[in-house]
Amino acid sequence: LTDPVTLAEIDAGRAAFAAPYSWTAGPLTPAERVGAAREVHNPARPSDVVGTVTEAEATMVEAAVGLAVDAQPGWSALGAPARATILRRAADLYEANAHEVFALTAREAGKTLADGVAELREAVDFLRYYAQEAETLGDRPARGVIACISPWNFPLAIFTGQIGAALAAGNAVVAKPAEQTPLIAFRATQLLHEAGVPAKVLQLLPGDGESVGGPLTADPRLSGVCFTGSTEVAKLIDRQLARTAPHAMLIAETGGLNAMIVDSTALLEQATRDILRGAFQSAGQRCSALRILYVQKDVEEKLLKMLFGAMETLVAGDPWALATDVGPVIDGEAHEAITAYVERMEAEGRVLKRLDGLAEGHFVAPTVVRVSGIAEIEHEIFGPVLHVARFDGEKIADVVSDINAKGYGLTFGLHSRIDRRVQRVLDRIGAGNVYVNRDQIGAVVGSQPFGGHGLSGTGPKAGGPLYLQRFTHEGEVGSDVLPGS
Ligand code: NAD
Repeated sequence: LTDPVTLAEIDAGRAAFAAPYSWTAGPLTPAERVGAAREVHNPARPSDVVGTVTEAEATMVEAAVGLAVDAQPGWSALGAPARATILRRAADLYEANAHEVFALTAREAGKTLADGVAELREAVDFLRYYAQEAETLGDRPARGVIACISPWNFPLAIFTGQIGAALAAGNAVVAKPAEQTPLIAFRATQLLHEAGVPAKVLQLLPGDGESVGGPLTADPRLSGVCFTGSTEVAKLIDRQLARTAPHAMLIAETGGLNAMIVDSTALLEQATRDILRGAFQSAGQRCSALRILYVQKDVEEKLLKMLFGAMETLVAGDPWALATDVGPVIDGEAHEAITAYVERMEAEGRVLKRLDGLAEGHFVAPTVVRVSGIAEIEHEIFGPVLHVARFDGEKIADVVSDINAKGYGLTFGLHSRIDRRVQRVLDRIGAGNVYVNRDQIGAVVGSQPFGGHGLSGTGPKAGGPLYLQRFTHEGEVGSDVLPGS
């Protein structure tokens, strides 16, 4: 951020957005406003209504795409420098409203202050980076209308990154935010409009996946879909586009089963810190989060002792309190699914460590579970659950093969001080983002672009130089097909 926010401003922001208040957000689109109202609840205190949103209906989807088709040539004709200026202005407005963003990410998405700050910084970086990239690329033909479909776990950063890239390249956007976090999307869209993006060029259609996302991705006038979310939904969209808009490009950033290997030469203090962050930051609700730790037998006991001790220092609770490290999971459905999984693991005698539970809200206590290897994990558990497996030093190549065989390829971490081993593992591992002797946390726009392959995604990495090209007709790089679609 160019302008640091003080703690006093953050406190003032939180006071201004503390309960009880209700925010009624209509769909931000010039299309006819129809749809049912949905209350948005605070995941830390479900009885707290954060706001109310009028959701879109299928008829609105059709109208919104039509308006976007009409408005897109004018936006494209503005030229890359003018579009870049507007996006930079939006970045400035995001920063000017930082305290509000922190309050909204805490109340609507259950994010801690640290996560809220990181989220805002990434969103602002995306806007400025794509503005600059657009100027570098110059005026290439845009694709047309792009549907941007985003998840709740980075309700500002991913939402903004997708839209920022599509707009910078000269496309019009119809955005469908996650049903759990429409208010942040609504506020971000307002700021983008205020910066100068015409209302028909960026339209927001809040609503759920089936009733809004379904008709949107089935519209044959789409030139592309930029999707971030689960692998299952990405496959659905992939198949839908093949039927109704086979010419459309698809960028799909999806889930992962991310592993870390710690060998007996690793600096265990560093590894402990990185495991803690990787597995439990954002309550494990990051696509990049560490899901399975492979630790070499001879240091396992020591490392787990250190990890369990470090876990005790985590402050779990309401992210409204500035000291909180681990907030709630996003909603009742996620809470139920993750809790049921942990209970199953408990019944099987696999739980090695579990922090004390929190009574109110959708909290899941950080948990460590024993497995023999990645093959045993059926699917991505999107919460604060870390699996641990042990390995014999000479079997490290088998561990790498097992990880690759699972078919995902998002993030991978390695802690080792043997250079040759590091090189051998890196040569073989199939992951989009690799972290050596450091924490396994996400992306840095511009310098560490983010994206996976295999079941973890298609297309070029977000925040990197090829990404923007994909939104133009000359960007035919990357595959559009997810395995098994
Ligand atoms: P999700 O797939 O359930 O939903 C994502 C978006 O798709 C939402 O807006 C949802 O409403 C919409 N959607 C659902 N069904 C749809 C349909 N039939 N047609 C069109 N749109 C539909 O995912 P989520 O629970 O919001 O997010 C968590 C997932 O996202 C995790 O799997 C996580 O790993 C992944 N993720 C990946 C990245 C990455 O960069 N690779 C980043 C963040 C999250």
